[in-house]
Amino acid sequence: MDPIFSPPLHRQRHQFVIDFVKRNKPQKVLDLGCSECTLLKQLRFHREMQLLVGLDIDGATLKKKMHGLAPMSTDYLQPSDDQLRIELYQGSVTQRDARLRGFDLVTSIELIEHLTLADVDRFSEVVFGYMAPVAVIVSTPNYEFNHLFPERTGYRHHDHKFEWSRAEFKSWALKVCLDYGYEVEFTGVGDPPAGQEERVGFCSQIGVFRRLRGRAVCNMLFCDEDEFSYTLLYSKNYPSLHDNKILQRVLVTEVLSGAETLRRKWAEETTGDRDAADGRAEACGAAMRILAEHPEVEDGELSWTDGRGQQESCELRRCVSVPLAVLWSRCPKVRGLGGSLSNLRQLLMDHPDVTLSQDGSAVLLNDQEQEEEHDELEDSGYAEARVCSLSVEPEENWDANV
Ligand code: SAH
Repeated sequence: MDPIFSPPLHRQRHQFVIDFVKRNKPQKVLDLGCSECTLLKQLRFHREMQLLVGLDIDGATLKKKMHGLAPMSTDYLQPSDDQLRIELYQGSVTQRDARLRGFDLVTSIELIEHLTLADVDRFSEVVFGYMAPVAVIVSTPNYEFNHLFPERTGYRHHDHKFEWSRAEFKSWALKVCLDYGYEVEFTGVGDPPAGQEERVGFCSQIGVFRRLRGRAVCNMLFCDEDEFSYTLLYSKNYPSLHDNKILQRVLVTEVLSGAETLRRKWAEETTGDRDAADGRAEACGAAMRILAEHPEVEDGELSWTDGRGQQESCELRRCVSVPLAVLWSRCPKVRGLGGSLSNLRQLLMDHPDVTLSQDGSAVLLNDQEQEEEHDELEDSGYAEARVCSLSVEPEENWDANV
């Protein structure tokens, strides 16, 4: 039946929910009768989403499809600022479970027609009376549309227990509103042929329910009971910067690339300094500004070190010292992720990929390329002036000053 619609009807139903989510930005969404999790997969891309839950009585289908909800590699490469958790439960919408209360939106797409009418009453009580979400979207076939499919007899699916006319759907929906304190708006997807809108209506009829203010209180009646009748089959926290390990990994990448950029600029500009005629004089000025912008950072702090002044070791490891204070002020991403300068230092301190100076105020970068350049400078007699040992004195309360 779907191919007569473009896009197919099942996509139009899901798109209806997605559009609602875009407009209303619910943070906790529950999809009842989620089946192959197609709708959940699309909803996970919405940044505002914090909790996405699916429920279906068919545990085998959930188990087969649930891995499609796992984070993708891009989710790990670019972890979100927000937290998203996805859960899947096996259970029946006719039973209560305290974990599924307090949602912003509950969707029931082409589900109720699979229930007996007695179970539809239980569904109404569980969803509107017990779960009591802020909004509910219910879609179900519109029986009046069926005569437009002459080759088809009976209901649209062998498992359907009923298919309602618009009047029957309306009568059920209005009773729900009265019993549980909601208001409803009727709409649908799957347009009828031109001129038959009034007579036939949409192929899938949809009710959008919104809880009336103050009515949530009546649901406090259920508060004492902690019922857990569903089986949790899947739960996954998406990569998020709220996870300290992930934050640290992203921060280290940003710090190392930021420090490397600064080192390059500095190297270029110090070279340009001694040879303004080669066209790099401008770059040199920029480099000096990097340092001058931060009064507490002396020019010498972004500097060569050959370790000779620091250690007696015979291993002469040369590196560039990039003060965290300079990184902090030059790299907005580092600032955004670090939260505070002392937090930044804390997060970098124990990371194996980062070497901090003794007082923890600077990142030390090994630099082979610079070392080679430096060898050339030494040969030409420049080295004396350029190379200095890592002379960053531990500043008193250095990060409080920034
Ligand atoms: N919402 C999905 C699938 C609809 S098919 C979509 O939009 O594509 C109906 C689904 O409801 C099936 O997956 C079926 O297993 C599920 N279902 C039927 N009775 C149920 C019940 N009592 N409780 C929960 N899910 C039920």
